[in-house]
Amino acid sequence: MNDLRKRFEAAIMPNYGVPPVALARGQGCRVWDTDGNAYLDLIGGIAVSALGHGHPALVAAVSEQVATLAHTSNLFLHEPEVRLAERLLRLLDADGRVFFTNSGTEANEAAYKLVRRHAGPGRTYVVAAVSGFHGRTMGALALTGKASIREPFGPFGADVRFVTYGSADELRQAVTGDCAAVFLEPTQGEGGIVPAPEGYLAAARKICDETGAALVLDEIQSGIGRTGAWFQHQHEGVRPDVITLAKGLGGGLPIGACVGLGPYASAFRKGDHGSTFGGNPVACAAALAVLDTIEKEGLLDHVTDVGERLASGIAAVGHPLLAGVRGRGLWRAIVLAEPKSAAVEAAARDAGFLVNALQPDVIRLAPPLIITSDEAGSFVTALPAILGTA
Ligand SMILES: *Cc1c(COP(=O)(O)O)cnc(C)c1O
Repeated sequence: MNDLRKRFEAAIMPNYGVPPVALARGQGCRVWDTDGNAYLDLIGGIAVSALGHGHPALVAAVSEQVATLAHTSNLFLHEPEVRLAERLLRLLDADGRVFFTNSGTEANEAAYKLVRRHAGPGRTYVVAAVSGFHGRTMGALALTGKASIREPFGPFGADVRFVTYGSADELRQAVTGDCAAVFLEPTQGEGGIVPAPEGYLAAARKICDETGAALVLDEIQSGIGRTGAWFQHQHEGVRPDVITLAKGLGGGLPIGACVGLGPYASAFRKGDHGSTFGGNPVACAAALAVLDTIEKEGLLDHVTDVGERLASGIAAVGHPLLAGVRGRGLWRAIVLAEPKSAAVEAAARDAGFLVNALQPDVIRLAPPLIITSDEAGSFVTALPAILGTA
């Protein structure tokens, strides 16, 4: 492992730092490093590996598709793409249309262009939230409300106005008839797994209706079953105009989607946007397998059930370093009383659990949706000792 880390450091750009573990393989919710150590994967490639590792449905769908037809470009249509779009629209229970991408940031780039196209030149700015995260490419980065990652790369040639997440009053002040769109996460993921306060998304919907701005919900981390619903906005009964998806959608294969509803379904004109790989047959086959499996295995209820047990188990641990737990479904933040998340992450790893130090005082858990109650319970059992060593 140390040799691979040295080669990584020499050959890979330094933007990630050198990760502490080199993974070799995975099965279910378990992964093994290159030295043969096993870990319970409680981060799932950042809310991506929805079906865990090596799920037979995903393996079969991808293997079959790659052997049949791996790529077409968008000069040719193919069935997996159409089927996946139809499937997503059915799950959203809405009239709409889909543009497929290869990642989350590209889904938000598409959404940004879409709302500008629909708004025309009169609506000159968009609104997004402080501490929001929408991606690393220039458009999505302009929407990202974390100054430390945005500002070194500005200016962006985009008028983005930031509001405090959760304040309906600030949103009402910020959104006028000149605003093209409001970009929000239903729960701020990278911002610390911070759910929108009760009624905030409904207020955002109302403000957008009154001003004619588009409500864009970035469900890239919250979507595809993560919170126990297909999409988090379904818990709130709020219907967005545009939804962006990625992460869990492909179960580990790179795919994202920008879904436009109502008038946003057909706001792009021919030639307005494109992607060589977007809607790639293999990625679409993977996504179809993910959606099928979530449905067939009843994973939405499972996520709710195991997620609640996990959260109540953690909350009951009662350790001075533990300040609380927040989030929904299998998407939880363990909030620490001191900025010791890096030490907790390392102690968890030594104990055989992969978790993510999201912020100095926040540990993120986003395990595969198939994690069993016993697996989740094994982490709760180990937690006091982990906190004790951190
Ligand atoms: C991860 C994430 C993105 C960016 O997705 P990439 O695939 O890394 O480009 C955008 N928005 C949210 C809410 C995310 O969690």
